[in-house]
Amino acid sequence: MEDLVQHVIGGKRVIGSGERRADVFNPATGQVARKVVLGSRADVDAAVAAAHAAFPAWAATPPLARARVLFRLRDLLEQNMKQLSVIITAEHGKVLSDAGGEVTRGLEVVEFACGIPDLLKGEFSDQVGRGVDTYSLRQSLGVVAGITPFNFPLMVPLWMAPVAIACGNCFILKPSERDPSASLLLADLFEKAGLPKGVFGVVQGDKDVVDAILEHPDVAAVSFVGSTPIAEYIYRTGTANGKRVQALGGAKNHMVVMPDADLDQVTDALMGAGYGAAGERCMAISVAVAVGGVGDALIDRLAPRVRALKVAPGTDPEAEMGPLVTKVHLNKVRGYVDAGIAAGAKLVVDGRDLKLQGYEDGFYMGGCLFDDVTPDMTIYKEEIFGPVLSVVRVDKFDEAVKLINDHEYGNGTAVFTRDGDTARAFMHGVQVGMVGINVPIPVPVAYHSFGGWKRSLFGDHHIYGREGIRFYTKLKTVTSRWPTGIRAGAQFVMPTTG
Ligand code: NAD
Repeated sequence: MEDLVQHVIGGKRVIGSGERRADVFNPATGQVARKVVLGSRADVDAAVAAAHAAFPAWAATPPLARARVLFRLRDLLEQNMKQLSVIITAEHGKVLSDAGGEVTRGLEVVEFACGIPDLLKGEFSDQVGRGVDTYSLRQSLGVVAGITPFNFPLMVPLWMAPVAIACGNCFILKPSERDPSASLLLADLFEKAGLPKGVFGVVQGDKDVVDAILEHPDVAAVSFVGSTPIAEYIYRTGTANGKRVQALGGAKNHMVVMPDADLDQVTDALMGAGYGAAGERCMAISVAVAVGGVGDALIDRLAPRVRALKVAPGTDPEAEMGPLVTKVHLNKVRGYVDAGIAAGAKLVVDGRDLKLQGYEDGFYMGGCLFDDVTPDMTIYKEEIFGPVLSVVRVDKFDEAVKLINDHEYGNGTAVFTRDGDTARAFMHGVQVGMVGINVPIPVPVAYHSFGGWKRSLFGDHHIYGREGIRFYTKLKTVTSRWPTGIRAGAQFVMPTTG
């Protein structure tokens, strides 16, 4: 991995004109591992110009030829899975096996995009009038950009770029400045796969780069994944500048535990979904809603498991949970735990002061478990994005659904039950974009689409899958006839079928 993480513009690594740099940490040791350049407006201009120049030829490339590049990318991602996982763990902190899972879920979107010749097939209606046919097709937008969060430095870019590029667009990635190195290897793999220079570019940076993207007249669309306040800002600013925008935001995902659920399965599910990746997943379960007196048994099962969580550097094969991404984030999560205690929630397991021998400066904390959390508390209302699970107790199923529906976020949710009626009622009535039935983290496969409701998504389209194809293309509808010599004369009425 390089000491200075640079941009990739027109197929070349460049330092660019921005003079600022940010530290990139190894969260396992707490040490600065390298620096990343923070780009300027001029760097965005250069990347957009390179993409704009590459666009006509790429858009004119037949979809099957575009797919062949993606087939090669797919193989390269598989061959480089180990290296990619190491890079992700080194800067994010998640355990290596989880980093491998991230690469696989990203690779699956590439596999979906390989089907682009079929996915771009239009519609045709013969004889909509006498001798008249109508057909529709989807065409690429031009230069599009993706702005991505720290928690999936490879998977989230792969939710966007393969689909955008398969559709014939050129794509500029603005990765998270906290773990930027995976973006460079991705750029290398695109190049090795035979993607023409300029079709995929990377501009490193922070708000300055984001604002330059949002204001650039030659950027047609922006995909964003990150926290809700920034998602809302991106949506408002991007659309005010005439762009198509999909902006996925934060979450507070509830898992409803019904009294008939298998509590051993529930406990396993909550451990993985609550504490996996140290809770730094937008689909992490952060609230368990215990229905009808199941709370005591649930806490009895969860507490010893949370205490026994194996927290260690992500490279340790035994580790179940690695460090948090930065010291700032660690302190923010600890602050939420303090606020929960102050608000009167019962902290059953306290992981705030965990220290690892030999890694005293690493950004670690242990799992925390709260009981008796109520909807007025900050720890219930806000996204903590750390290894903190809150248990809320309610008497009835309807109260559980109301809690979820009243919450500002609507990303993911799950119900654990053996009863089909309950599961059906939950699926049908819950105001959330992605629902799991006895599945705690219902991230859709690549040939469906991913997206939340309410303040978890701003815009009209979910991401990847067919929604991604719609987002990255515009519809053209053609009405055609080939008259043979007979003139009908000027027509002054609205044309009708007949
Ligand atoms: P973030 O919002 O801080 O950053 C996301 C991106 O926005 C980064 O590239 C960052 O550089 C940029 N950014 C940050 N502040 C900005 C500003 N003021 N103006 C313009 N751009 C800015 O998010 P994060 O901390 O990197 O990621 C965690 C968040 O992302 C959580 O809220 C999580 O729920 C969310 N997330 C959501 C999904 C989803 O699919 N809904 C998926 C992953 C993560």
